[in-house]
Amino acid sequence: MRKAGHILNYNDVCRNCGGEGYLAGIKGTDMKPVKCETCQGSGMVTIKKEISITITPKTPMYETNRAGH
Ligand SMILES: [Zn+2]
Repeated sequence: MRKAGHILNYNDVCRNCGGEGYLAGIKGTDMKPVKCETCQGSGMVTIKKEISITITPKTPMYETNRAGH
């Protein structure tokens, strides 16, 4: 079995606040904008994607039949 891994790191606009950094207060109230928890007010986030690939040999048909008996 062989394993290969790949890590992707990139910056993207925060999807939680749309890049504003703050979430709008509730309409009709005096609530101030709330700092976005996801990006902590920066409006940008770093996204890390970890991709793991596992490679296994394809089992030949005759070996599958033997194992069955
Ligand atoms: Zn945000």
